[in-house]
Amino acid sequence: MEAVYIALGSNLHQPKIQLDTAVKFIQRLPRSKFIAVSPYYCTDPVGPVGQKAYLNAVVRIESRLPPLELLYRMQRQENRQLRKRGVHWGPRTIDLDLLLYGQRIIRHRDLEVPHYAMTFRDFVLMPLLDVAPKSLIIPGYGRLDKLASDRSLGQD
Ligand code: ATP
Ligand code: CA
Ligand code: CA
Repeated sequence: MEAVYIALGSNLHQPKIQLDTAVKFIQRLPRSKFIAVSPYYCTDPVGPVGQKAYLNAVVRIESRLPPLELLYRMQRQENRQLRKRGVHWGPRTIDLDLLLYGQRIIRHRDLEVPHYAMTFRDFVLMPLLDVAPKSLIIPGYGRLDKLASDRSLGQD
């Protein structure tokens, strides 16, 4: 089993219910074990202006699913939660991003791990700090606690 972190975001159709539904989906993934879910954070939207606030969270699991199979399962779940693909970074019922898969670095047409934006998005780093060990290494970027303190996060 490898430690896997998934970021969740929603700003449409009752975000709390969307996140709850996505967490249940993650809890039922085959060949995987649920470890923890962060609190849900209310955050300012990134991208087109005039969007509603987002709810963001991170889930930690352990998994043996091949990373691409996990990604495709996540994308099918987005579709089940009626995610419409319209405006880039536009409003969505649910967004599931695969942040980390153990210490792997993956460069595939459909999948880049670590997720390219995770180290500079506070709405990802904050919930990640809640569920990950402080010594977590983000391959290619270094320790999570160092990244967070450089951004003045998680200093409590
Ligand atoms: P961003 O990627 O900036 O957070 P987004 O989440 O809105 O924006 P999407 O439209 O959800 O972007 O995804 C675009 C593509 O990103 C998908 O087709 C998917 O194949 C690809 N992708 C690459 N790496 C990942 C990853 N680590 N997790 C999820 N999707 C990924
Ligand atoms: Ca995203
Ligand atoms: Ca996405």
